Amino acid sequence: MSDYDVIVIGGGPAGLAAATAARGEGKRSVLVIERDQKLGGILNQCIHNGFGLITFNEELTGPEYAARYERLAREAGVEFLLDTMVLDVSPDHVVTCVSEARGMQRITAGAVVLAMGCRERPRGALNIPGFRPAGVYTAGTAQRLVNIEGLMPGREVVILGSGDIGLIMARRMTLEGAHVACVAELMPYSGGLKRNIVQCLDDFGIPLLLSHTVTRVEGKSRVEAVWIAQVDEKGRPLPGTEKRYPCDTLLLSVGLLPENELSRAAGVELSRVTRGPVVNESLETSMPGIFACGNVLHVHDLVDYVSQEATAAGTAAGAWADACVQHQAQDEEPGIPVVAEGGVRYTVPQSIDPERMPEKLTVRFRVSGVYEDRRICVYLGDERVIAKRRPILVPGEMEDVTLKRDDLLARPGLEKIVVTLEEA
Ligand SMILES: Cc1cc2nc3c(=O)[nH]c(=O)nc-3n(C[C@H](O)[C@H](O)[C@H](O)COP(=O)(O)OP(=O)(O)OC[C@H]3O[C@@H](n4cnc5c(N)ncnc54)[C@H](O)[C@@H]3O)c2cc1C
Repeated sequence: MSDYDVIVIGGGPAGLAAATAARGEGKRSVLVIERDQKLGGILNQCIHNGFGLITFNEELTGPEYAARYERLAREAGVEFLLDTMVLDVSPDHVVTCVSEARGMQRITAGAVVLAMGCRERPRGALNIPGFRPAGVYTAGTAQRLVNIEGLMPGREVVILGSGDIGLIMARRMTLEGAHVACVAELMPYSGGLKRNIVQCLDDFGIPLLLSHTVTRVEGKSRVEAVWIAQVDEKGRPLPGTEKRYPCDTLLLSVGLLPENELSRAAGVELSRVTRGPVVNESLETSMPGIFACGNVLHVHDLVDYVSQEATAAGTAAGAWADACVQHQAQDEEPGIPVVAEGGVRYTVPQSIDPERMPEKLTVRFRVSGVYEDRRICVYLGDERVIAKRRPILVPGEMEDVTLKRDDLLARPGLEKIVVTLEEA
């Protein structure tokens, strides 16, 4: 007997939605373990609006969106362990965690859902020459300082990287009275959503310098200036294009990485592209009964998709726990691989068993560059079953296709499912 039918690790939007779904209207015992004192995850520091347009058809702030899911989880009877850090998950679902109040605990689960979110890529990953002065922050750290601690990281700001958090912080710092000189982006396109470029940069007259990077940070104890240069198509600075920007703060918004230490320790296979677990149609990882969802699985653009995905993972984890209690062996047949081709960077899930998939299954993905006037195509064997026209596709925005179980079942012996882009 397990202590809980399902244990969810992480109480952000993914964990809350997964736990609510896993509860199965009171049928199962579900525990969420969260290292913070509060539920809601990173959304607690995202005080701007724009969350929940898809889920609630309303514009909510991050904390409001999180509060709605917390209420749903509490009403569903989910249990919580807050201020508790999970240290290890074993392949046989023993979760080891530690807290000041209860010390070290080992709790067993029928099924486990990984929902630990992601973290920001730090300066160390960037190789910028210069000293290590104060005044260099990740955009998320600056967001926490401003929105939660009530502290201003600086007054004259340069932002490197045009991911959504960087764009949002350009606006936030401006609204708080700082001057944002520019946002420099290494790639020839922004890594953020179009709506954030318009609402956070264009509306405030903040320049976005595409194909530019920071080549030097000046200042010994505190940042005094940064040097920004244009780069060629290989990301190499072009001589003679360097320009000095006096500033006291450099914010980095240069990518998010799934929090995969626990996943790795549990023996879960990780994708080299997403850096999150490889999953099947039920969002189950390579370790039976361990599921993943949200930013720990792949970095999402909109939290609404996180909630949808987590609901599917929680439902599947609940069903797995039921089967486990009844001692039903899991069908170990490998699913049909989903292959990303022709500008599609990856897909989640990476394999599908038609027998186990729901009637309709959403496959999410990102593209690897900017593509105009394309069709998103899905091939089952040689046969094209989906051709969805898109005027523009960008890496910053997640895309999806919906596969039908009947289409897959109608093709026994199918060896692969290909998601690709074609000229429209
Ligand atoms: C800095 C930052 C700012 C963002 N801003 C925006 C935005 O403005 N708009 C937007 O749409 N999206 C934003 N996002 C994306 C947004 O965070 C996601 O859409 C969503 O929050 C992901 O939900 P999640 O539950 O997967 O992860 P999170 O919200 O990160 O939640 C993960 C939870 O797991 C907990 N956890 C991790 N490891 C452990 C452990 N070992 N033990 C116990 N608990 C653990 C964490 O404390 C956290 O509460 C931002 C992301 C980041 C990182």
